[in-house]
Amino acid sequence: MERFSNLLLCIVCIMLLEMPIRTVAQECSIVTGVRISDHNGTTRFVMDLSSATTFNIIKQNNPLHVIIEFPNLNWPTNINKLQRPIGILRDYYHKSLQLGTKRLTLKAICPVSVKKIFLLSPNIWTNYRLVIDLKPVGSFQSKSLNHKNTDFKKPIVVIDPGHGGIDPGAISISGVNEKNIVLSLAHIIKAHLDKSGLVKCVLTRDRDVFIPLRKRIEIGREANADLFISLHVDTVANPKIRGLSVYTLSQKASDKETQHLADKENKSDIVSGIDLSNESSEVTNVLIDLIQRESLNLSSIFAHQLIKEVSNETHQLLQNTHRFAGFAVLKTPDIPSVLIETGYLSNADEEQMLIRKEYRVKLAIAMKRAIEHYFAQTKN
Ligand SMILES: [Zn+2]
Repeated sequence: MERFSNLLLCIVCIMLLEMPIRTVAQECSIVTGVRISDHNGTTRFVMDLSSATTFNIIKQNNPLHVIIEFPNLNWPTNINKLQRPIGILRDYYHKSLQLGTKRLTLKAICPVSVKKIFLLSPNIWTNYRLVIDLKPVGSFQSKSLNHKNTDFKKPIVVIDPGHGGIDPGAISISGVNEKNIVLSLAHIIKAHLDKSGLVKCVLTRDRDVFIPLRKRIEIGREANADLFISLHVDTVANPKIRGLSVYTLSQKASDKETQHLADKENKSDIVSGIDLSNESSEVTNVLIDLIQRESLNLSSIFAHQLIKEVSNETHQLLQNTHRFAGFAVLKTPDIPSVLIETGYLSNADEEQMLIRKEYRVKLAIAMKRAIEHYFAQTKN
């Protein structure tokens, strides 16, 4: 009997506890706790909930974020920042949008996607739970991540500031040298990449020295570059022309280069890591051709990504922004390569912009984003 009255008391208590909730926000689920764990490369984010909830994964641009909106959610607890990343989760926060809608942002240490998301019904131990499983994407997927999160192989970008030393490159009427602008830009890009730590960045030159074109390509090879970016500033006779453009190797130039390379005797040199010395010339040609086509495709993917980021950030683009040419630095068959003409020193306005550090920082941030998005998008 005593047990029965205790049970009744409990039921009354639960009803009383539930009443204020119902009056404040009807059918609004309340977050009562959050748990994060990592297992075999999957990071699990669990929200304890007072009742079932609906949710939408929101598409957005930042590859490091997962955003989920809840149309009817109450999240009363204050969230403490994570002391250290757990799995690939660096941090998380939520904010209120319009009435009752909460937006949860999960910030990862590398490009991330939702592997699974599902709602679990209550059992005798727990209430409703929303389970969000996160996994790394793109190049970051290959190596399993441990708790220190330093072990995954970072993709490598080699940035090549054009000219240098005795070779000033283009010179504006007021005496601004191309070599100085591109060197500064390269340093800013590297600083931003190093800061976010997702991509390893190597410069072909970090000071005002002359480096021959062949040597620049060698540096790219020695660094095991996954992407090679040459930075330049242009001049033309028409002072009205301005804007950024991106060059990738033209198919015509690349076919010619492939033929030229294939005709050379020492073919094992051409594609690093693949010994072609015992292959017939036909096999060699086909292999080089395939690898070069793949590099061209990847170069174009990067070019498009860059154009998107730069137009978001600065809106300074040349007509037909993506162009094709046969520059020497673009001719490494197995490394996706682009050459960026960041603008025209022959245009007075653009010259003024390029010598301002704030503008170079804007450009550099757009390029850094394009590089990170490119690696998130493409696999090894
Ligand atoms: Zn140049």
